[in-house]
Amino acid sequence: MIPSFSYIRPRSLDEAIRYLSLDGARLHAGGTDLLGCLREGIFEAATVVSIAGIKELKGIVPTPAGGLRIGALTTIAEIVRHPIINSKYRALSMAAAEVASPQLRNQGTVGGNICQKPRCWYYRGEFNCLRKGGDLCYAVEGENQYHCIFGGENCFIVHPSDTAPALVALQASVVIAGPNGRRTVAVENLHVPPSEDYTRETVLEPDEIITEIVLPPPAAGLRSSYRKVRARRAWDFALAGVALAIEFNGDRAVDCRAVLNGAAPVPWRSLEIDATVKGRTLDGDRAAEAAAAAVKDAEPMAQNGYKIPLFRGLIEQELTGIAQAGSG
Ligand SMILES: Cc1cc2nc3c(=O)[nH]c(=O)nc-3n(C[C@H](O)[C@H](O)[C@H](O)COP(=O)(O)OP(=O)(O)OC[C@H]3O[C@@H](n4cnc5c(N)ncnc54)[C@H](O)[C@@H]3O)c2cc1C
Ligand code: SF4
Repeated sequence: MIPSFSYIRPRSLDEAIRYLSLDGARLHAGGTDLLGCLREGIFEAATVVSIAGIKELKGIVPTPAGGLRIGALTTIAEIVRHPIINSKYRALSMAAAEVASPQLRNQGTVGGNICQKPRCWYYRGEFNCLRKGGDLCYAVEGENQYHCIFGGENCFIVHPSDTAPALVALQASVVIAGPNGRRTVAVENLHVPPSEDYTRETVLEPDEIITEIVLPPPAAGLRSSYRKVRARRAWDFALAGVALAIEFNGDRAVDCRAVLNGAAPVPWRSLEIDATVKGRTLDGDRAAEAAAAAVKDAEPMAQNGYKIPLFRGLIEQELTGIAQAGSG
């Protein structure tokens, strides 16, 4: 049962920010993750502030610069079926299509998707682990088959959002509104690694709201993709995933941004893939070389060594596939 809380549904952003500055206030968008966290007792809320009625957080519109502005309340389903996202920012529509189930895609928003809480089973269970304010990471000596192989320090979660790695690959940024006005942060810098602070997932303060996501104009020759491997064919989070955004000139990759999912506590930029691919012809041999480079420095835990060949195969396949695909 969810403990009781006050529920407020402000009509303006300023009003929402004021309520969020109250002690124990929590932001609610689609609620698909927040209500689960409250029900499971991961944290409590004295006041739940729903932003669902704030009109300026909705809608997908082109920017004057030729990019795209996606309101934070845009549902995952709206992203999947949007024609511009489908044709110009393919990695994002492919990632959105991989999120959860049709019902959750209809209810869940993109703002909530990139801010959702981790899925570590100790964190979601009745364990007062390090991330919840305790003094132990239970995954270190426990069941760690779904935990990270890169970037683990103190806490070993994998970042759960499918859309965030695609947004990082596509060089998106978020606009954040708070009591001191607005600021823009690259999605690449939105998530906080546990080496910096293992008690928070994002750089957001409790009274800050993501208002929109901004995608830059797609570069000439850009192709992008997202692929996810999961344990079950039904809804599930990524065991391994890769988002690619590569600018091609013929069969040469002029630029490359590869971001791994299910690999690290934050969307994980694979600079090894970028360096192997960038400025060179992308063929099968190059794809295999990049995939080997990507996993070279992985640090598996006791039970997740299987992720290394999994990522290696996935990356090689995806690089080969994108080299053979048309533009988009
Ligand atoms: C059964 C199940 C399966 C799932 N499978 C997947 C999956 O495969 N892939 C995947 O990526 N996700 C998955 N999810 C997570 C789900 O997609 C996200 O929970 C959903 O997109 C979150 O959106 P929401 O609007 O419901 O967020 P909410 O639950 O309303 O919020 C989630 C968190 O984000 C914060 N937040 C929300 N909007 C904003 C904003 N604009 N500014 C600042 N903070 C904000 C909230 O305070 C809260 O902490 C799954 C969830 C469930 C329950
Ligand atoms: S991996 Fe992180 S969330 Fe999971 S038990 Fe360890 S500290 Fe907690």
